[in-house]
Amino acid sequence: MTIICAWCKRVLGTKQGTGTVYVMCPEYLAKLRSEIVTLRRHLIGAERVTEKLLKKEGE
Ligand SMILES: [Zn+2]
Repeated sequence: MTIICAWCKRVLGTKQGTGTVYVMCPEYLAKLRSEIVTLRRHLIGAERVTEKLLKKEGE
């Protein structure tokens, strides 16, 4: 079987047997991890803005 990264389509290796297995390569995992950190930061910011705006509207 062929081991392929489902995200960057890179062939990571082969193993005995037929078919294709899709995984996430270590490079992409690291990339995704850093993106999640950024995303979380944006989410917290967006949450604060929303809270602030809704609060003002309610006054
Ligand atoms: Zn990949």
